[in-house]
Amino acid sequence: MTGHRARTLLAAGAVVLVVLTGCGGTKSPPSAATGTMASLPPGEVVNLALSDIERFWTATYPTISGGKAFQPIQGGYHPYTQSSPPPACGGEEGVYQPNAFYCPIGDFIAWDAEKLIPQLQSNFGQLLVALVMAHEYGHAVQHRQGVTDQPTVVLEQQADCYAGAWLADAMAGHSGSFKGITPAQIDDALAGMLLLRDQPGTSATNEGAHGNAFDRIRALQDGVQNGAVKCSGYNATNLPITEVPFTRERDAATGGNLPYDEAVDTILKDVEAYWAKAYPQLTGQPWKPLTVQPFDPSSAPACPAPDAIAGGAAFYCPDGDFIAYDDQKLRALYEQFGDNAVGLILGDLYARAVQHRRGQSTEGSSGQLAVDCLNGSWTYDLLHRGTQTDATTLSPGDLDEAVGALLALGRATGGSGASGFDRIAAYRNGVLNGLSACK
Ligand SMILES: [Zn+2]
Repeated sequence: MTGHRARTLLAAGAVVLVVLTGCGGTKSPPSAATGTMASLPPGEVVNLALSDIERFWTATYPTISGGKAFQPIQGGYHPYTQSSPPPACGGEEGVYQPNAFYCPIGDFIAWDAEKLIPQLQSNFGQLLVALVMAHEYGHAVQHRQGVTDQPTVVLEQQADCYAGAWLADAMAGHSGSFKGITPAQIDDALAGMLLLRDQPGTSATNEGAHGNAFDRIRALQDGVQNGAVKCSGYNATNLPITEVPFTRERDAATGGNLPYDEAVDTILKDVEAYWAKAYPQLTGQPWKPLTVQPFDPSSAPACPAPDAIAGGAAFYCPDGDFIAYDDQKLRALYEQFGDNAVGLILGDLYARAVQHRRGQSTEGSSGQLAVDCLNGSWTYDLLHRGTQTDATTLSPGDLDEAVGALLALGRATGGSGASGFDRIAAYRNGVLNGLSACK
């Protein structure tokens, strides 16, 4: 499935607008990002972040180094602009790029203070700026540990994991600068991370591969939940890396996106076939084919008590035992995120039907998280089908499309009470571990 234009950091400005459209009115303003730091200029946010991250590593590094003390960055911090480019890194001349990086030879961190950082802050909040710095500082930590013999994608995920470990420390109240971090701020930062990722179709074994957003958010969440010691154990054999290259000529040409009508058909056939097989495993009962009704917003099918998502644009109707979706709204999400946004929505409706049919709740945070895991279990099945040429398969970018749609529709400020952070974790649990992981 799929069809993205190539995305690079250079296109961040354009892409940022696209993502914000999806967040609708639920995005919290940047001024709410970290309580007391309400409206600081980006440069000050960077400085506060770097000194707090230094504080964190001074306390934490001995736990991953067998007691060795931490040596802070020696080569300084270097904001740069187009007219004042970054310092040279070893033999490499400093050239302006809308980017942030760590230079091991000079032991310094440099960042685009003109475009990248101000844009990230105004669109996604101060926390994302701090997480970008924590990621770069993570590379400095790796350099101190002498970790260099890992593929780039492992080093990148480890830096994301270290950033998550810092975030957990700040959330625990240890930071003097980043206080009162809310689930909504974290969801904003995750939405921003969707931009800071590889272009779909990058092989995880490419020298420069950073990982897709699905994998990078996993690594960040791992750091938040399990801390720096867990991150320090990362290597090429113990990370679930879902990033895949395009394997079909057609996918590479279209970016992997099926045309809308074909995407809807393919997805409905596939998810129906999946539950015909999986529902008996889950319940011991046979699966009855589910009726699906696309509708025009002016003539939605009657349903006395719909179990709705996407602001009512899609729902399962318990009374009639059918699912229905606003065709225009679904098409808009397809245009915005790609074909697997359709998969995310229709998969969610099927998972709701599963829960109702087996007498389980879809309400509140735990109900939503159960739905997300079941929805992810279908993707697990897609990922484990081998390579028959007629099989529906995921293409590069599909998992990121699902995460993008999920964040756009279900954020911390949404109805269910589940944060995007928790929903992504539940969805990923299903994707990586399959049906048996969802209870
Ligand atoms: Zn990096």
